[in-house]
Amino acid sequence: MNLSTCPTCKAVLPSSPSLAQLFPHVCPPAWEAREADDESAEWERIYATDAKAAARPWLEHRRQGSGVYEQGREAVLVRRAGDNGEGDRFEVWMRLAPSYTACRSF
Ligand SMILES: [Zn+2]
Repeated sequence: MNLSTCPTCKAVLPSSPSLAQLFPHVCPPAWEAREADDESAEWERIYATDAKAAARPWLEHRRQGSGVYEQGREAVLVRRAGDNGEGDRFEVWMRLAPSYTACRSF
């Protein structure tokens, strides 16, 4: 399957022109997020339907990039893009799921 993504919000777009015509893509609103307890943390842009919907994927994306996976919770600040306010605080919970792999032993 040949998938393309929106250059702005990175959403996966319909692969066929007829689907794209039926469901034209509109980017969700832009937000900015950062770690709440790190005053030096930079605000980063993310696209989501609302502030709460921005908090989880922002932290998930950030953790994937760092390679650090710890169970627990982290506070995330989210504000509208272009707003210079403090933002709203969200608690994001991270849980690690066990993974089982079998291989033949000799
Ligand atoms: Zn988009």
